[in-house]
Amino acid sequence: MTADPTLRCRTWRAEALLRMLENVLAVGERPGDLVVYAAQGKAARDWPSYHAIVRALTELEEDQTLVLQSGRPVGVLQTHVSAPMVVSAVNNTVGNWATEETFYRRVHSGQTIWGGLTAAAWQYIGRQGVLGGTYELLRAVLRRHFDGRVPGWLLTSGLGGMGSAQPISARMLGISSLTVEVDPAKLDKLRAAGGLDHVTDDLRAALSLVDGPGPVAVGLLGNAATVFAEIAAGDVLPAVVTDQTAAHDARHGYVPEGMDLGTWRQAEPERVERLARESMARQTLAMLDLAERGAVVFENGNNLRVQAASALDPERAGRVLGIPGFMEGYLRPLFCRGIGPFRWVALSGDEADLAVVDELAATMFPDRPEVAEWIRLAREHVPAQGLPARSCWLGYGERSRLAAAVNDAVRAGRISAPVLFSRDHLDSAGMTHPRIGTEGMRDGSDGVTDWPLLDAMLLATGGADLVAVHSGGAGYSGWMQSAGVSVVADGSTGAASRLRLALDLDSGLGVLRHATAGYEEAADEVERSAKRPHDCPPLHWIDVHGEER
Ligand code: NAD
Repeated sequence: MTADPTLRCRTWRAEALLRMLENVLAVGERPGDLVVYAAQGKAARDWPSYHAIVRALTELEEDQTLVLQSGRPVGVLQTHVSAPMVVSAVNNTVGNWATEETFYRRVHSGQTIWGGLTAAAWQYIGRQGVLGGTYELLRAVLRRHFDGRVPGWLLTSGLGGMGSAQPISARMLGISSLTVEVDPAKLDKLRAAGGLDHVTDDLRAALSLVDGPGPVAVGLLGNAATVFAEIAAGDVLPAVVTDQTAAHDARHGYVPEGMDLGTWRQAEPERVERLARESMARQTLAMLDLAERGAVVFENGNNLRVQAASALDPERAGRVLGIPGFMEGYLRPLFCRGIGPFRWVALSGDEADLAVVDELAATMFPDRPEVAEWIRLAREHVPAQGLPARSCWLGYGERSRLAAAVNDAVRAGRISAPVLFSRDHLDSAGMTHPRIGTEGMRDGSDGVTDWPLLDAMLLATGGADLVAVHSGGAGYSGWMQSAGVSVVADGSTGAASRLRLALDLDSGLGVLRHATAGYEEAADEVERSAKRPHDCPPLHWIDVHGEER
């Protein structure tokens, strides 16, 4: 995708945000309804709001700030050149309004939207964003349990928006995978996109493929509950077992055993919910059997355990709830160091610009060779979508160093147009979601939303170009509060300062949050920050209980 070189806005800072707004719709699921992803995550409240946002961005001066409230522009205020160009708050309500019923009533009367994580903050880059996280997760699993070696194969299920990243990430790490999917269209779609090597409806054939030379990505048409139970009853053993059906939503996200897709879509929701939970119980009990035989088993942030437990007696529910979650087990050690899903977008639309940034990232962190390895693999395996973009897990000080180097390259003309830096909201400081990002925090702060709010305040202080605070939604998504950030490297000295401040404040707060919660890795990162040869500021953590310990 090549973008028009002509600017429609008065500054590149505003132009960048306008291009991102257009880009999230270009790569989104239902652009006609302004829906970007996650069933109902929208880029703007409605079409009149969208057009008003576009108009406001084109007229915005550098010392003004556009204010958005739940996807609708409410005005432009006089600020200063180091203030954000856009501030946005989406669907934040008082606690007693944070119910599914209130949410839907307000959505239907046009008063609010669900902003997803990156939809209303115009930061979504399609599957490219998810892939980095799934890759980092599987890499952490290999490091923890297999000393970095490639073990046997991965058994999982679900090939939806998130789940389809599983076989691709496994292949990038040299692991064969068997993914069970109930919808033949999903299997065909991913095979056509190159994400699956084989599709079959024969379990025996699938098992012999993953048992052969790899890595091979096999998609198996079937129901996860049935297939997992059959595998658990047999004599083959996958090395790693997880699941990424949309189990969080028992009415619309998980097909019960024995039900075809047509019947499932028509069936009465309460009945589907009960049957789906029973099937999830069967699937998770099979996962426990495989764990007992030596497989590494974990839940991948879809609430499968809680759903399954609700259909089981207390003893078995307790065992199912004991399956480890992906965040606590594998990704939190990275979050403790401020390492999370950073991303950049070449606003020119020119792949050559992306290549320059990739190259800088691949060479700037020799003490973390995994960064160069990821960039190499991502260039080979990650299908492009929309404006050229890359997600890459970088930490405190790393993000700002890379962004500063890119800003220099834009100024010097080595990159043809500005580059936007952003991240997923599921990051070290930016997210509270006790079912995904912050489950099992050591200090019990799983549901405490102070952190993303502090993050947003700091990001605005640092002059980030866009700062967003998202909350609520229905059901499972009603468990979250997040802060999002975008900063534009336009080659100016102002951008150099904004990038340094915003990116270091964001990941620095993430480290302090985890140090405060009692994670030694984060306290170590604070110490390391004082000894870095580079110019990111040492972190100053106030350890209130340090003396007592
Ligand atoms: P999706 O709805 O796009 O896809 C789910 C897939 O599961 C569909 O293709 C569906 O056909 C398939 N499926 C449903 N029931 C099945 C069954 N019984 N057997 C086999 N296949 C079945 O969902 P998604 O976007 O891929 O997300 C998957 C889950 O991951 C969601 O619960 C989501 O909330 C969760 N999630 C995880 C993270 C993370 O970082 N790990 C982050 C956000 C969300």
